[in-house]
Amino acid sequence: MPASTPRPVTGVAPGRVNLIGEHVDYNGGRCLPFALRQSTTARVSPRDDDRLAVRSGERSWEGRPSQLDDAPSWVRYVAGVFVTLDVPGGFDVEVSSEVPIGAGLSSSAALECSVAVALDAALGLGYSPDELVAACVRAESEVVGAPTGGLDQAISVHARESHALLLDFATDEQRQVPFDPAAHDLAVLVVDTRVSHELTDGGYGARRDQAWEAARHLGVRHLAQVGPDDLAGLDAALLPRARHVVSEVRRVDEVVAALGAGDWAALGPLLDASHASLRDDYEVSCAELDTACETAREAGALGARMTGGGFGGSAIALTPRPRLGAVESAVRTAFAARGWTAPAFFVAEPGAGARVLA
Ligand code: ADP
Ligand code: MG
Repeated sequence: MPASTPRPVTGVAPGRVNLIGEHVDYNGGRCLPFALRQSTTARVSPRDDDRLAVRSGERSWEGRPSQLDDAPSWVRYVAGVFVTLDVPGGFDVEVSSEVPIGAGLSSSAALECSVAVALDAALGLGYSPDELVAACVRAESEVVGAPTGGLDQAISVHARESHALLLDFATDEQRQVPFDPAAHDLAVLVVDTRVSHELTDGGYGARRDQAWEAARHLGVRHLAQVGPDDLAGLDAALLPRARHVVSEVRRVDEVVAALGAGDWAALGPLLDASHASLRDDYEVSCAELDTACETAREAGALGARMTGGGFGGSAIALTPRPRLGAVESAVRTAFAARGWTAPAFFVAEPGAGARVLA
């Protein structure tokens, strides 16, 4: 039941890049994402009836959150939040987004979280930020049916400007880590390969199942609980998957330590090692991501890795600002030489988390 008379509210929530710590959230590990300045905006306005009407660009849908059998997938990200916040309907929702969709930059969590903060304020529900995160995770996993580990929703809600967020999925602890590459004449360059990871979405669930199977074999709840010397006994299929997870959480800790020490140069090899591990051990990269990372490094980036779930999407390259033009043009040329769609580029500035506009 509404806690107060519904009012129109605009919610804003950002996309993200994950600096390091990939495919570890559902393995009880640590990761270090930061939010983008690019965000999704959801304007929720009360209606006279109890239906839900959603519009995003040219697309629109009207119905009830309780009856989504015929609803297209994109509607479920919005309606799913109504379901998990237990709001039966009664709103028009107008969505617009600056986050590239399906590019591994978490447009899905930006959409869920923008709706969640708006709805919470519109009805005066008074949920905590963590409760809103949980509702968005459940919307994506239970209503959309897409496996999600919770990283994306947590950073979209909790992000702070000029910070990355250390998330520990074993303890639920969070720590804001100052992260301001521009102050060190560096930039996190995003290369959107324009390969949509939606095409091979089953790959994420398959990796998650293998990781959980490896944990079962080792007799632990989560893979991140074990160390590199504990992996004996895993079969040839599971060993590399586990090796990625246990090595990746250690790299996250090393990145946090390097940032604490102001040693930005140390980040480069750690990003490179993360990419190699995702490519060779977890096998979630693709030719476009590999080429983007290799070419960026050759053109002067300190280090580069795929970010997000993989199978397409985006790469990040930690780049000295004077080298940005050279890195962009080298990657563009490498893609053109292979006959691939031209990639898109932007510099990711660490932005703020979900909020409502006054
Ligand atoms: P990512 O989160 O990396 O962008 P996902 O596959 O997780 O990729 O989520 C993309 C999906 O989320 C889209 O296919 C669409 O269904 C939905 N979506 C995200 N943003 C919007 C938006 N602004 N309008 C409509 N649907 C959106
Ligand atoms: Mg997503």
